[in-house]
Amino acid sequence: MEVPKPKCLEHPINVPTKLLMGPGPVNMPLRVHNAMMKPMLGHLHPEFTQVMDEVKEGLKYIFQTTAEVVCCVSGTGHAGMEATMCNLLEPNDVILIAQNGIWGERAADMARRHDADVRLIKKPPGDVCSLNELESALLKHRPAVLFLVQGESSTGALQPLEGVGALCRKHGVLLAVDTVASLGGVPFFMDSWEIDVVYTGSQKVISAPPSVAPIAFNDRAMEKVRTRKTPIRSFYLDITWLANYWGCDGLPRKYHHTGPVSSVYALREALSMVSEEGLHALWSRHSSCAQRLYSGLEALGLRLFIADPAKRTPTVTTICIPEGVDWMKVTKYFMSKYQVEVSGGLGPTAGKVWRIGLMGYNCIPENVDKVLKIMKEALANEPLLKS
Ligand code: PMP
Repeated sequence: MEVPKPKCLEHPINVPTKLLMGPGPVNMPLRVHNAMMKPMLGHLHPEFTQVMDEVKEGLKYIFQTTAEVVCCVSGTGHAGMEATMCNLLEPNDVILIAQNGIWGERAADMARRHDADVRLIKKPPGDVCSLNELESALLKHRPAVLFLVQGESSTGALQPLEGVGALCRKHGVLLAVDTVASLGGVPFFMDSWEIDVVYTGSQKVISAPPSVAPIAFNDRAMEKVRTRKTPIRSFYLDITWLANYWGCDGLPRKYHHTGPVSSVYALREALSMVSEEGLHALWSRHSSCAQRLYSGLEALGLRLFIADPAKRTPTVTTICIPEGVDWMKVTKYFMSKYQVEVSGGLGPTAGKVWRIGLMGYNCIPENVDKVLKIMKEALANEPLLKS
């Protein structure tokens, strides 16, 4: 029996244009789209490794680091998380994970798969850890690694990071941070904040397609990798191989895997746009659009899920679903009438909040106003209220 040609492939691809105001991915600037149309190159051709080198410079800027090992995992944010776990952890290593939303849960799941001894600092969704809480937990659990999420996109919380690196050094702990939903939207200084490993995603503030996860390991983290007693349990995510392919170890590049060439072009252009705008301008664009969103939502009588503005990441805003409103009917109204995406909750916030993303290319006052206008209309619409 032969499988026949699929009927669905007889016509050209057809996808609508939507305004993506959820927690990511976000729409891409034309310049980033156009970069993906550049000619294909071999993944070790000098013209391509030149582009990779330019990406590394852009990443050093956005991570604010001079670390040598700054590169990308070919995969999305989860691949960055998995690479962090598989390179830093050996069986029975203690890892302390702050859990205040879905990303701490996922990190714990991954760490357990590497046979690490996982300890948790649990905080209610929307809350974050103080320096005191972190220090007591470090003293209690004596971990090898502390893992924090800067922007908890399932709750909208922003974990403060200043001072945490110094605590970790004092107690001989490596500090790894997930910045998938926050980098570029809020200040982040890998070197001055003494963060040992950081990763992010390409499809959020950076506004490139989902496909590559930028990652950086400083010397302390690489020392841990070099002195492991057991092999890294993933070939694909082995940071020593990735560092070589990305030209970070001073040795000739060897074939590790075929890099996602067109996605790296797109990332290069997106980072070029970040660099043109400048990090300070980018951070303040996110903070001012978020303020505009908060006041607009409050003017509609809505309550933000995180009461303390200092604990909110400007990149993902969580809004309590008012009594009597069917959250899903509202998100469907946004999409069907306006082709605008806003999302419901995730993990601990499922059914309790809406999530509105303000990231990168989409983070402009016009989009904030559009979302507010649609929200106002939706809330005035009787059929969207539960019967
Ligand atoms: N960490 C955080 C904080 C995230 O927001 C996300 C994506 N929403 C991820 C990790 C996982 O990223 P991806 O979906 O690109 O694998």
